[in-house]
Amino acid sequence: MSEPLLPLREPLKPPADYPQSRVASHDEALSARRVEGLFLATGALQRGHFLLKSGRHGDRYLEKWALLQHPDAAAEVCALLAERALVVAQAAAVEIDLVAGPTTGGVLLAYEIGRLLGVRGIFAEEVAGDAGAVRREFRRGFQIPPRARVLMVDDILTTGGSLQALLPPLLAAGAHPIAAAVVASRSPDLRSIEIPGRESIPLIAALTLDLPTYEASECPLCAAGEPIGAPGSSGR
Ligand SMILES: [Zn+2]
Repeated sequence: MSEPLLPLREPLKPPADYPQSRVASHDEALSARRVEGLFLATGALQRGHFLLKSGRHGDRYLEKWALLQHPDAAAEVCALLAERALVVAQAAAVEIDLVAGPTTGGVLLAYEIGRLLGVRGIFAEEVAGDAGAVRREFRRGFQIPPRARVLMVDDILTTGGSLQALLPPLLAAGAHPIAAAVVASRSPDLRSIEIPGRESIPLIAALTLDLPTYEASECPLCAAGEPIGAPGSSGR
């Protein structure tokens, strides 16, 4: 018998005390636990004692591509976000016409969520603006019809800056963003996205994470004598 072309994969399994298969999207607490389980199972959410790029210390580290590289896991999270976005759209009595995200993770998310919703998925790239400023533009011939109802998508929301950067090109085209959906939000207090001159739109997050960081002198893990490592090491 010949060797298989691809190595056999280890099936993804969340830690034992997390849901082991898809859960209903309307149960936000359970579905968040399922998504956190996928982050843990794929190594996207590492627990430990980390020296971060900023020089600060943290007890958790997020590497979104550890999850997004697994089509099964990424598609499951996209399905959850698509279902939640449909609920938001139905409550507002509108249809979603277009899904749009920022490069790089947003390319993948817009594609899969667009596929699930039966609409196009497009992405905005960074371009150099005046005086070295960076802005985002929909290139590649992407069309944004006037009055299109747009679902904005992104992978990890930290401050919301990447989503905010989608607004100028969308609004200039006359589109109407109706909601934003992210895989994980690191801003627990952020429940909506502000749009200048308009009503803010709901923020949908499959998982919300509060990941505190510490100065070394104030780090509780240092105080407990925990050895420190760089993200990517096992860190335990
Ligand atoms: Zn520390």
